[in-house]
Amino acid sequence: MDAHKVPPPSAVGQIAELLDSPEIAVLVRDLEGTRWTGRPGYPLRSMVGMALAKSMYAIPTWTKTVALVREHAGLRTAVVGSLSSDVPSVFACYRFTAKLRAYSDMLTGCIDRVTAGLSVQLPEYGRNVAIDGSDMPAYANGQRFVSKNGRERKRFSDPDASWGHRSAVSTRKGGGFYGYKVHAVVCVVTGLPVAWTVETASEAETNFALPLIDAARERGFAVDVAIADKGYDNGPFHDGCMDRNVLPVTPLRETPAVKRGDHKPPTCEHGTWTFAGADFKRRATKWRCPTGACQPKSRWIKGDRLHPLIPRETDRSRKLYSSRGAVEREFGRLKHEWALLPLRVRGLDRVRLHADLTILAKLACALARARAVPLAA
Ligand SMILES: [Zn+2]
Repeated sequence: MDAHKVPPPSAVGQIAELLDSPEIAVLVRDLEGTRWTGRPGYPLRSMVGMALAKSMYAIPTWTKTVALVREHAGLRTAVVGSLSSDVPSVFACYRFTAKLRAYSDMLTGCIDRVTAGLSVQLPEYGRNVAIDGSDMPAYANGQRFVSKNGRERKRFSDPDASWGHRSAVSTRKGGGFYGYKVHAVVCVVTGLPVAWTVETASEAETNFALPLIDAARERGFAVDVAIADKGYDNGPFHDGCMDRNVLPVTPLRETPAVKRGDHKPPTCEHGTWTFAGADFKRRATKWRCPTGACQPKSRWIKGDRLHPLIPRETDRSRKLYSSRGAVEREFGRLKHEWALLPLRVRGLDRVRLHADLTILAKLACALARARAVPLAA
């Protein structure tokens, strides 16, 4: 065996390790402090262990999670402490998620601790980020009619879900879908989420980009560059990024101004002017006459959507934009390897909690791995 490689950790070993990590242990302690009155219930460490097992084994439902933990001796020991201890019931798992929704600040605090721990291990985490939204079809039917030519649906099983649009990916066609969208800021170097929110599907993606950058900053991330697709190429996004000292990178959307050629570099009788640097404080880029024969030889152009501070014709802009795929890949991993989908809960609050728990499990595992492999390795 290659001595430099750390063997892949078993999920069972990892759950035990995560439950003992300071970041998760504080969550257990915080929740214990709110111990509800009435029947004593299962230890909160076991309940958090159930939630971790659900995400790490990518199980959509609590029913299947409870069944697996009951049958799997190693997992059972890791989650509830010993083979002779009771495995929480499905009902207890539902009560636990209700408690987490009621004390969402404690869960947020836990996510903040995990991302802060990751920042120490991975200094590049959260500097260059990509922003995008992705579909999360609801656990409900959004058809207007109960059946073909049938009566109109009066009651929707998930009233918070709505119709939205998704773009095509690889073999799947784009089109309408009913449900929610997860909007996320993902680090393009580490591939890890930095900040995210879940909203009903009909809400426009561009509304959440700037608040998510603010959320990432509040979490302590630098956020130097924000990369997004053409859908985010609008004035408010570019200006909002610059207001926050973030450099936006987007492709150019074909608008009337672009058709007029307003985005093009200045020209003179000597040819097209060349980019000669940006002044971030001044929010402007400098352009120079190709021969230097013009007077003045150079001039400043105010930064905006048409003239970003990292000009689109530069290699730097192209290279940054090519890293945008990190956000798509992370959505794919979260959905397919961590059971972000299929949704088996209804209502915005529950879907949000599901996303938070899924991403927390993923980040906590990344933190454990980063700590196991020292920076120098
Ligand atoms: Zn000239």
